[in-house]
Amino acid sequence: MKKYLAPFFMLIIFEAIAITLWLTKDNIFYLFNFSYIGLSISLGIFLFIKKYKHARRIVQLLVGLYMLIYLGLIRNENMQIEGFWYYLFTGVFEAATIHYAVAKIFGPLLFGRGWCGYACWTAMVLDFLPYKSPSQPRKKLSWIRYITFTVSLVFVASLFLAKVGNIERIMFWAFIVGNLAYYAVGIALAFAFKDNRAFCKYICPITVFLKPMSYFSVLRIKCDKDKCISCGKCKRVCPMNVDVTDNSRKRKNGTECILCMECVRNCPKDAL
Ligand code: SF4
Ligand code: SF4
Ligand code: SF4
Repeated sequence: MKKYLAPFFMLIIFEAIAITLWLTKDNIFYLFNFSYIGLSISLGIFLFIKKYKHARRIVQLLVGLYMLIYLGLIRNENMQIEGFWYYLFTGVFEAATIHYAVAKIFGPLLFGRGWCGYACWTAMVLDFLPYKSPSQPRKKLSWIRYITFTVSLVFVASLFLAKVGNIERIMFWAFIVGNLAYYAVGIALAFAFKDNRAFCKYICPITVFLKPMSYFSVLRIKCDKDKCISCGKCKRVCPMNVDVTDNSRKRKNGTECILCMECVRNCPKDAL
């Protein structure tokens, strides 16, 4: 029974967030929202424990589609980084600011880049492409993420400085256009570099938040050196080029780990 504690604890954490936000913000939406996400993630962990091959993909679809279609398109909440800047500048601790605080800024201290492995609706599509693990060495292009990060900040700040009217409507269209651009660039890069996750590695502005916080993540894959036979399979299957056999926080590409568990599933010695 011990192994089933993990999905149970995950559910408890999300329920605690759901109830706290429901009561403090006096808005029952938060109870529904975080309970649904917690249940989806717990189901995924349960299926993974049961060795179901598509456990992660199910969570990606459950959470990713919910956020993209229900929150983004139906409720008109821009959960992209522009939406985060927008709510931050308006001083409202709602929607995107709460989402960023939980999933992308403070959450990664606990669950690293779990967001990227299980919930992101951009990666939900990219992970269907054929290049599951990169066949080429990593390119020195990750500086581009700082440009996209700055552009998103300057774009929203300019709207406020220029006192543009109806910014909320602009944010909705920014969500549509931004997502289409992310998908187009992400798919093009995946085919160009033969790497589904090229967009995540070089372009995505959200990694500017995710990487430093996930450095300190409590949840991380560790290698049992007594079992490891140095076959290198974990590195070959890793979509993010992480040297997971190094247990130190400074492991190569350590802050890129999306906790997808491909290395764990493929290790022939159960060393991870
Ligand atoms: S790096 Fe960006 S695009 Fe990739 S999974 Fe994470 S948040 Fe999504
Ligand atoms: S796949 Fe397992 S045994 Fe092989 S190098 Fe990685 S941790 Fe070691
Ligand atoms: S394969 Fe392992 S090291 Fe690589 S991203 Fe997935 S969980 Fe992290």
